[in-house]
Amino acid sequence: MSKGFVNQENTHSRPDGAYGEVIRKIAKDGVCPFCREHLTEYHKHPLDERKFWWITDNMWPYKPSLQHKLVIHKEHVSHVNELSNDAWVELLEIQKELSAKLNIVGGTLVMRFGETHFTGASVSHLHTNLVQSDPEDPSYDPKKGLVTRIG
Ligand SMILES: [Zn+2]
Repeated sequence: MSKGFVNQENTHSRPDGAYGEVIRKIAKDGVCPFCREHLTEYHKHPLDERKFWWITDNMWPYKPSLQHKLVIHKEHVSHVNELSNDAWVELLEIQKELSAKLNIVGGTLVMRFGETHFTGASVSHLHTNLVQSDPEDPSYDPKKGLVTRIG
């Protein structure tokens, strides 16, 4: 079982080693990279702020993808049972808005929650990944699609 804010064992799906290095540093620092006081230290893309969520581009997008947005809950929670109904409603509104704004005609929405040992999440702080794969990328394998761990 993992303890702490990040799970170093769940960085293996990334094609480059730089992400693993960042997660190791975060684990060493002993901080949550998605909590308000550390988010801009580890996350360099602009943030769009709503009442319950931040919206941003993933610093480490799944590959190959055309779009990879993160929607991060502003308060540190890790399980879906900790979300208020109002936060769920706002999350739905954000996902619909992003899909329309980015013209995502086909995409994938991933939300891992709870104990990262079971989910593959590298950061336990609750967030969603909105991903549009890139089937035209030379590295895209149509038999596998975009591959990431979801369990
Ligand atoms: Zn956090």
